[in-house]
Amino acid sequence: MEPTKEVLCIVPSCGRPLHTPIRGARGLCYKCYAAANFQIKRGKTTWAELERLGLALPAVYKMTDRVFSTAFKQAKAGGAS
Ligand SMILES: [Zn+2]
Repeated sequence: MEPTKEVLCIVPSCGRPLHTPIRGARGLCYKCYAAANFQIKRGKTTWAELERLGLALPAVYKMTDRVFSTAFKQAKAGGAS
């Protein structure tokens, strides 16, 4: 395994380390995520546009959730009781 690399916010001029990556935060630190979310709520942009601009990663957390819940169910079903 590679040593754990510090994950940085994908906004180049930010570069803040993601000490605690937020689930579904699209590669943004919490400040950038909050700022992006604010613009979206105000109708200034969309996640799709931010993805195109390279200012957000596609949301992949749902897939991860499914992987986890499948593994969890399997573990429970075949589990050591
Ligand atoms: Zn940031």
